[in-house]
Amino acid sequence: MQKIAIQSSIRNCSFIGGEWIGSGTSFEVINPVDKSVVAKVNEVQAEQVIQAINAAHTAQASWKRLSAIQRAKYIDSWQRLIRQNVKDLSRLLTLEQGKPVAESETEILHAADYTQLYGQLAESFSKTQTIDAPQGQQASVTRRPVGVVSAITPWNFPCSMVMRKAAAAIAAGCCVVLKPSELTPLTSLALAALAQQAGLPEGVFNVVVGSNAQAIGELLTQNPKVAKLSFTGSTHVGKKLLAQCALGVTRAAMELGGNAPFIVFEDADLDEAVEGAMASKFRNAGQTCVSANRFIVHQSILPQFQQKLIERIDQLVVGNGLDSATTIGPLINQSAIDKLDRLIEASIDLGARMSFRASIGTFAGNFYAPMVLENVTPNMPIFQSEIFGPVVSITSFDSEAQAIELANQTDMGLCGYFYSEDIERQKRLTESLEFGMLGVNQARLSNPAAPFGGFKQSGMGREGGCFGIEEYLDFQYITRPCSQ
Ligand code: NAP
Repeated sequence: MQKIAIQSSIRNCSFIGGEWIGSGTSFEVINPVDKSVVAKVNEVQAEQVIQAINAAHTAQASWKRLSAIQRAKYIDSWQRLIRQNVKDLSRLLTLEQGKPVAESETEILHAADYTQLYGQLAESFSKTQTIDAPQGQQASVTRRPVGVVSAITPWNFPCSMVMRKAAAAIAAGCCVVLKPSELTPLTSLALAALAQQAGLPEGVFNVVVGSNAQAIGELLTQNPKVAKLSFTGSTHVGKKLLAQCALGVTRAAMELGGNAPFIVFEDADLDEAVEGAMASKFRNAGQTCVSANRFIVHQSILPQFQQKLIERIDQLVVGNGLDSATTIGPLINQSAIDKLDRLIEASIDLGARMSFRASIGTFAGNFYAPMVLENVTPNMPIFQSEIFGPVVSITSFDSEAQAIELANQTDMGLCGYFYSEDIERQKRLTESLEFGMLGVNQARLSNPAAPFGGFKQSGMGREGGCFGIEEYLDFQYITRPCSQ
């Protein structure tokens, strides 16, 4: 397979039915580092979104009939191309999203891991299962692809959020229409170029790019040819899309927001806890759904924990993600900065204290100086909302029961972390914490084989491993007399 120069093979417009399709209007993709224009991208038109759904629907008929092994071959070529182009893709991702290029590279390889795994798993889901049946009858269950899938993805992980859906759906035998965030459409278009190069039949993977998310979303949820919506994004938008899906009883999978507690007990290994805190809080400048959002720290070790953490925060290198020395990039846009400022001001008004703010240089872009807020209480907006920025918010506790109560005091249930060396306490905590994913003495959750997803308003359904493919399959029960 030949290596392609990513930027010359994408055509800044939608990819529909195997063709690049433009329009007369465009929107700008802005580099958050300096607010320069990275690219102008053609706005998809309403009739083109319908064209993409039709292309997927037409392709669906033959794609689902391929054997799982045939589908896996295409998927394997795709993941190989993603790996071969990891440097180009990382650079492109950093240009439109801002994260350090090393983080972009990790994200792209993680997406390739998902893709590879789904290709490998496809065959194991194609088997018919014989089940118990009344005397004189035989009965079986087959899994069938649900049909055309609409996928809507956020800007914070423009590659892995796309492939976690697309590769699972395509492996299951479903064709996909993807709408990436208008803020980061280029990585998705590069993935489409690689799908084309991998020889994926036309219509199997379509990408529609535009800045009118609501209008595109309505088309992608209300067309009767769409069998399932898979959404990753905020709980607020997820609720709207669920209501739209209800109109046609369209199936929906929702990967929504988080509000992760990060509990540090008095018996924790503090150095490890600080290490985990840095990885969880400052990856992608804090703009991740699994970011530690509420540090809940035992009062007896709070001074030492804070001091060690601040020493580490002070070593962060804020700057352009393309510079290899950079360890933290900008926020995505000005409205993310404004939202964070409002959250902090309102919490300080209610009694939170800023105990540290890093000094960073003057930048043209959307940079935010890392900060620590202490004395945070549950009535403050910073405790109740996703921070989505490099701000450590600390609440103290003095008993295990209080730590658990504080941690569960949220409508969200995506993930949580705790640090304790006490095995009995670890057991009690894993039973009591109401989160779909838990890190015990570690803050890295990434694992393509794991069921990624949350409890409560953090969503429904799971992505990753065999759990992720199930989302795109339906059961068909067949019974007949034994004689036939
Ligand atoms: P968002 O505002 O909900 O947007 C997500 C996607 O939905 C984008 O493509 C956006 O398009 C689109 N969208 C916005 N309004 C829409 C509407 N009315 N109809 C249809 N589509 C619409 O979320 P975000 O700011 O991009 O991402 C951050 C959120 O995603 C956080 O809450 C984070 O926790 C969550 N997230 C969750 C996971 C997970 O796996 N659970 C992973 C990553 C992120 P435009 O961008 O073009 O407006």
